[in-house]
Amino acid sequence: MTVTAIDSVTARARALFAAEHADLLRRTPASKAMFERASRSMPLGVASSFQAGSPYPIYLASGRGAQVWDVDGTAYIDYHNGFGTMAVGHAHPAIVEALARTAQRGTHFAVTTETAVALAEELCRRFRLDLVRFTNSGTEATMDAIRVARGVTGRDVVCKIEGSYHGHHDTVMFSVVPGDALLRDGTAANSTPMSKGIPAEMAKWTVAVPFNDLGAVEALFSERGGEIACLIIEPVMMNIGVVLPADGYLAGLRELCTRFGVVLIFDEVKCGATIAAGGAIERFGVQPDLACFAKAIGGGLPLGAFGGREDLMGEIGKGIAQQGTFNGNPLAAAAGLAALTEVLTPAAYVRFAELGSRLADGCRKAIEAAGIAAHVVDLGCKGCVSYRTAPLTNYRDFLDTNADLFDASWAWLVNRGIFMTPGNEEQWTLSVQHDEADIDHFVDAFGGFCEAVGR
Ligand code: PMP
Repeated sequence: MTVTAIDSVTARARALFAAEHADLLRRTPASKAMFERASRSMPLGVASSFQAGSPYPIYLASGRGAQVWDVDGTAYIDYHNGFGTMAVGHAHPAIVEALARTAQRGTHFAVTTETAVALAEELCRRFRLDLVRFTNSGTEATMDAIRVARGVTGRDVVCKIEGSYHGHHDTVMFSVVPGDALLRDGTAANSTPMSKGIPAEMAKWTVAVPFNDLGAVEALFSERGGEIACLIIEPVMMNIGVVLPADGYLAGLRELCTRFGVVLIFDEVKCGATIAAGGAIERFGVQPDLACFAKAIGGGLPLGAFGGREDLMGEIGKGIAQQGTFNGNPLAAAAGLAALTEVLTPAAYVRFAELGSRLADGCRKAIEAAGIAAHVVDLGCKGCVSYRTAPLTNYRDFLDTNADLFDASWAWLVNRGIFMTPGNEEQWTLSVQHDEADIDHFVDAFGGFCEAVGR
């Protein structure tokens, strides 16, 4: 048996996790019972594998404002916020009113309503798009944007970023969580899909390059530019914490894509309407050819969209298919329109910046006081603690973070009333209904964790 030496902080984190996790299981019998019931009708007892937990997840019953309640009746301040969907907070009066009003007048026609038109206009305005189309999820948005890029260019290969997530359709399921072993063999990292059930031949249509590496993109485009339809990228990587684009990186990609006739697609499913009113497009001042949206734009309803240049989007219906029975559904459109025009107003982003700084500063102080190898990233509505001293620049850096510290922090925080995304690949999301007291509660709980685990 090989015994791997671990440092004292990691050893304390493991012990802490074991104790906190045992507490968590003791105080969540109703979640356990729900899991047993749900497992009889759904794999892993959940509606989506991202909702699963070990040995079972915490099942929620309700939410209001910044809070959620689990099925055992325990209240938490919500920093998970539906994987970044609930920037409006729970049961926001403007969203509830829009839904109630719409429900009274019919919930679905599969015919475009004025609300959907108004929402399309707002999306075009915010994200500087010429034309937009609706979908029901982020997955559909990236799938359709890629379809348009391939259809317009007549090229089939898709370039993505190593270790990035763009949803669960086949083309983007390569190089999502490559892992150490796969990365040592560069070809396997690209050609092993995230799921069984994806034909091995699909691998030839997707090629991955590391984030923040313009040279890799230039080399690839120089060699195979004529085959590559698009480069799809999350402008801030948010499936491994929060990884910022280096200065000039996005502008450099813009230039390379233009030079080689490759369609630049921003996946703004997480960035859009969170890190600025106009998402990464506004925050970094770089305009892609197409952009994809979901999560926060829908105010909590299943809404996705993608859009961009008129000469690309205008090809839809002229040989390029884009459709869906539920696209532009009145309830989703009403919630999205209320979210974007009544709740996520310019003032909301000023507020996110204030609360985000308060949270990040508090966490930074706690990390420094305890001497833990970690850093904080703050983008207002979104942010995270990553357990590595230096900021991450790409997916390989993420493999270097301390997962034991994350696991321990998650269990510690959830036992102290902080509902967080389980998994160090995620980040927190603030809502407009969070206040200073909610932030201070997080900072206090996190400070306690750092003390318990630190030097
Ligand atoms: N793109 C990104 C960047 C995402 O984070 C996600 C979901 N986490 C998706 C696409 C897929 O969105 P959905 O789950 O709505 O299909």
